[in-house]
Amino acid sequence: MKHELPLLPYAYEALEPFIDTLTMQIHHDKHHQAYINKLNDALKNYPELTEKSVEDLLMSLDSVPEKIRLTVKNNGGGHFNHSLFWRVMKPGGGEPSGHLAQSLINKFGDFAKFKVEFSKISNNFFGSGWTWLVANKSGELEIIALPNHDCPIAMGLRPLLVLDLWEHAYYLKYQNRRPEYIEAWWNVVNWEEVEKNYENIHQSKTKLQKCRD
Ligand code: MN
Repeated sequence: MKHELPLLPYAYEALEPFIDTLTMQIHHDKHHQAYINKLNDALKNYPELTEKSVEDLLMSLDSVPEKIRLTVKNNGGGHFNHSLFWRVMKPGGGEPSGHLAQSLINKFGDFAKFKVEFSKISNNFFGSGWTWLVANKSGELEIIALPNHDCPIAMGLRPLLVLDLWEHAYYLKYQNRRPEYIEAWWNVVNWEEVEKNYENIHQSKTKLQKCRD
């Protein structure tokens, strides 16, 4: 089984004017595709790994041969992170509601404060990486920024929302103005998808509970 580039769930120009068409084309078709190619290339001599999903690979990096471990971590992370990034955006954006909205209020005070905190962490992050809203092992929400393509699922965290901080994500339109890119990005967050990610955690917890019973 080869890893494949997922289709964008919208057109390249759909996130204009906040994220420009050319950036979306290069980012999806060139950058994301390159991570997948390098991942497939690294795995080609390891048939025992070819049936594993990218999630399984990242969650069990210790079982990946040392020779290709870093390549799988970087490019598998590049594949997983971008796949999630495309899904948590949509034209028109919106606001969180339901269970997730309540959890954001409980943790950060209100939605505006959550946004300020997430943006601050993103602006202050040095170099290439990603900002994440995750649920930790006890289900509590946390904002973290991780370097390169490091992925929270490798640390037992559940990703809900992610923002790409690599320059390739914004340089064509925003050049050195990362704060402007981050501010604009809030207009295209797909909160329904983030809520779905959050509900899935609770469902899988319930399933685990049922298994134990
Ligand atoms: Mn990227």
